[in-house]
Amino acid sequence: MQEKNQLELKEEKRKMTKLTKNFNLSEFESKDGSKMPEDVLENVKVHAYNLQTIRDFCNATVTINSAYRSPTHNKNIGGASKSQHLTGNATDITVKGFSPDQVADIIEGLIRIDAIEEGGVGRYNTFTHYDRRGYKARWDNRS
Ligand SMILES: [Zn+2]
Repeated sequence: MQEKNQLELKEEKRKMTKLTKNFNLSEFESKDGSKMPEDVLENVKVHAYNLQTIRDFCNATVTINSAYRSPTHNKNIGGASKSQHLTGNATDITVKGFSPDQVADIIEGLIRIDAIEEGGVGRYNTFTHYDRRGYKARWDNRS
């Protein structure tokens, strides 16, 4: 029993791990509580640096609505079968004081000047999707 508590404490501590100045690991965990695989964690760490650049450029709070999704969670919410969220390379974000459309424009601009990595930028009514898939992808799902 004591050993389990120690494991739980270790897991708690892991989730509080700071990835960058303004982001910690807990913000990237799958919403269903699934454990994040190590290869996903490595992707999340790199993705977080890109988000920090977006955060610094906007000088405003970035809220992560969705980051890593376990295969089960992704299926449950009807995510794409090859979603970048499965690899820890994607986040859906909002930035305080900016519309989702403005956030998408800012991300596109930061990609253009190589401040953040090329990848997917998705426009939605209430959030902006950004991923570092390694090639350019753009879509507009606003209604
Ligand atoms: Zn997304």
